[in-house]
Amino acid sequence: MSYVFKTDGLTRRFSGFTAVNNVSIEIPEGGVRTIIGPNGAGKTTFFNLLSGLLPPSEGRIFFRDRDITALHAYQRARLGIARSFQITNIFGHLTVGENVRLAAQAVHDGKANFFFPGSRMDQVNETTERVLHDVGLWDARDARAENLSHGDQRRLEIGLVIASDPPMLLLDEPLAGMSPTETHETVDLIQRISPGRTILLVEHDIDVVMSISTTITVLQTGQILATGTPAEIRGNEAVQRAYLGE
Ligand code: ADP
Repeated sequence: MSYVFKTDGLTRRFSGFTAVNNVSIEIPEGGVRTIIGPNGAGKTTFFNLLSGLLPPSEGRIFFRDRDITALHAYQRARLGIARSFQITNIFGHLTVGENVRLAAQAVHDGKANFFFPGSRMDQVNETTERVLHDVGLWDARDARAENLSHGDQRRLEIGLVIASDPPMLLLDEPLAGMSPTETHETVDLIQRISPGRTILLVEHDIDVVMSISTTITVLQTGQILATGTPAEIRGNEAVQRAYLGE
């Protein structure tokens, strides 16, 4: 089976406390895989291990057959594993368009063409426009980023991440603090950008999780309790006891 991510006995301890406990998981190419679980289940720690923010205590992580366990976060990002961080990535005093342009320039910087020096600028313009349209912020391109609503800032942040067109996207609670309208628009955005890439999501809003996920993995006390389709997870008694019934 072709997978994009695989973990093998992944474990992370914090001074004796095991936050992620022997997790072995395969995430196939394409679709939206959502990690759910009660508070303290180890979801954020698991994400930090995958993106390279934390080294594991034990176990290995593979990305498309390559062992990436020892790679730093920036090296994983270069392989196409992109993670959206909080809004701190945004330059508030710059416009929305300028923020996206900076991300697009960073992507195309390494690809300058000696024979066609003008082509780089075309590519930067093209990427900037594509991203602004993708995240629904084209009309807001001249607004200062700090004046955007919370939801629009979170969408801009996703835009900065997809400027590099990453095959693997890690989104950590992308709907946190959003109004119902913003939630709706962001779910729509995630669905629009998901074809052709693999999205790994941590999300609390269970209705959204059920509607958006291809597959759901439930973590409990650092271990996998269940993996399945939304319908399978909804019908899983152990999951209901541990989480959904709370
Ligand atoms: P979740 O995201 O599912 O709420 P976390 O991964 O944030 O869970 O945390 C899992 C457990 O690990 C929690 O009990 C938390 O207190 C503990 N933990 C997380 N990070 C640290 C840390 N840096 N030092 C000590 N304990 C931590």
